[in-house]
Amino acid sequence: VTVRVVEETGSTNADLLAALPTLHGPVLLQAKRQTAGRGRAGRSWHSAEGKSLTFSLAWKFDLPVHALVGLPLAVGVALAEALAMFSIDARLKWPNDVLVQGRKLAGILIESAGAGSVPHDASWAVIGIGLNIAVDDSMAAAIGRAATGVPWLADLDPNMLMATLLSSLAEALVQFEHEGLAAFIGRWNALHAYAGQAVVILDNGRVLHEGIGRGIDAGGRFLIESASGQVAVMAGDVSLRPK
Ligand code: ATP
Repeated sequence: VTVRVVEETGSTNADLLAALPTLHGPVLLQAKRQTAGRGRAGRSWHSAEGKSLTFSLAWKFDLPVHALVGLPLAVGVALAEALAMFSIDARLKWPNDVLVQGRKLAGILIESAGAGSVPHDASWAVIGIGLNIAVDDSMAAAIGRAATGVPWLADLDPNMLMATLLSSLAEALVQFEHEGLAAFIGRWNALHAYAGQAVVILDNGRVLHEGIGRGIDAGGRFLIESASGQVAVMAGDVSLRPK
């Protein structure tokens, strides 16, 4: 993996997406300051220098782009397992967040593209990760939702932290390419933040489903046991919340 670190950029995901046609192998781009971080559906990701880890990894898969649907779930598992090596009890919120004690520690944004000259059997994924080290008051106000950090991560050697995250991610990506999401379902469900808890699925603020969160099925859909039976929810632009 080629590693690049820049002082400041708008969005590491945007930069790598723009650079895809020129890439020959995996690239990790880390920004010390990210000024226009992105979330899903045009939402934004906030970070502050020295208080956040923001990076993206461009990775080419010998898989068609539709086979990457479950990738955010595999990346969540890889992140949570890497954080467990530092004794951080990270849990997963479907489809793309990492929580600590119910609050968001890290977000994952994956943007993918077919690989141009080989459109059907290869694709690039740009895997963006924002991880909070510390959340100060001004960041908390900008975020507007429960966020958290792990301040003592700042005491670690930053290269060691990045190397641990990167090796867990790379291992997961190779496994995803060979075994697909199947290799991650049980691990994801073991890390599920809302296992057995009352949850709602929101679509633009409107309650689509409510019931008990049961984790993910083989296709990466979120399972809710509602009064009328079990429902499997696809990861379009819907939001999961505790009830
Ligand atoms: P939903 O929970 O509705 O499914 P999401 O959690 O998938 O949304 P994303 O689009 O992945 O949201 O991330 C963007 C959202 O994350 C923002 O709208 C904001 O609420 C929150 N957010 C932004 N920056 C941070 C941060 N540094 N720490 C924690 N949460 C953040």
